[in-house]
Amino acid sequence: MKQRVFSGTRATGSLHLGNYLGAVKGYIELQNNPVYDCIYMAMDLHTITTPYNSKTLANQTQNIIIDYLAAGLNPEKAIITKQSLVPEHSELAFLFSSVMSIARMQHLPTFKDKVKQHPDNVTMALLNYPILMAADILVYKASLVPVGIDQEPHLEVTREISRKMNEQYGMDFPQPQRFATRGEYIPSLIGEGKMSKSVENSFINLTDSLDMIANKIAKIPTDSGQGNKLPQSGGVANLLIFIELFEGLERKRELEKQYLGDGIRYGEVKKELAQAIYQELKPIQEKRLELEINQSYINNIIKNGATRAREIASQTIKEVKEKMGFINL
Ligand code: ADP
Repeated sequence: MKQRVFSGTRATGSLHLGNYLGAVKGYIELQNNPVYDCIYMAMDLHTITTPYNSKTLANQTQNIIIDYLAAGLNPEKAIITKQSLVPEHSELAFLFSSVMSIARMQHLPTFKDKVKQHPDNVTMALLNYPILMAADILVYKASLVPVGIDQEPHLEVTREISRKMNEQYGMDFPQPQRFATRGEYIPSLIGEGKMSKSVENSFINLTDSLDMIANKIAKIPTDSGQGNKLPQSGGVANLLIFIELFEGLERKRELEKQYLGDGIRYGEVKKELAQAIYQELKPIQEKRLELEINQSYINNIIKNGATRAREIASQTIKEVKEKMGFINL
């Protein structure tokens, strides 16, 4: 049997460079390898774990799918759909919640971060986020998960739930591992933390124009351009990470030499970087324009993906319910 792969992105806005380099590039690499059976979703249930707008949710979810397809996901090679169309995810999450303690979930660093970001919205859905994520993965018995490094604490919860279900109920869930890409941690443009949709001015969207990209890159905080030691964190260090990702290691080394020598001229370097990023995004944007006008094609992919996903997921639910003592009539 092929090794199964599962991943998804929350439907909280367009995809940004962090999502693309840290996750979607990994999705594409795995879908193109015939050894794997891949399932990728727009995670709309996860979206409601933080404040959201019910009027725009459906549209944003659709946009994630369009971004996926424009970036190179292929419905002939992978199952592509929306999480909420597969109710087995929520059903399994409830069953899983019976083997995890509240204290374990409250101590997760990712939970604490979100509590700080949204102190007035500390909901049960937020606390349950990692349990739902475990269900997303294990309902397909997936063993490989292309996600950014920020998701590692959640994967640890997934493995813990898997072990508990196997020990207590004799299930055969795998111990899913993270599939890392070269861009597993894309820094924020504001000099601190990771690029994230929920942090303003920290990200470049896949849909941004050259001007928008240039404006955002221009705001990366820099210094005088010279020093006797290369900075390890902050704006300049991040700028060099982007240079390496989009212009190659050699260009980064050249700039490092300049920094330690005559100095870097940031204005020029930033313009050149904006161009390099735009060159990578341009074909995705062109594909996106074609897809946007073909909503019935997109809807068919989503519906078909949900049917195929449910066939697999319903088998797991049946098995878990039997093992947990529910009688299947
Ligand atoms: P966000 O943090 O912007 O809300 P999501 O939580 O929806 O993003 O993450 C979707 C995927 O993108 C996950 O696999 C996550 O690990 C990855 N990802 C998000 N931000 C980054 C980043 N800055 N660097 C690398 N990967 C990232």
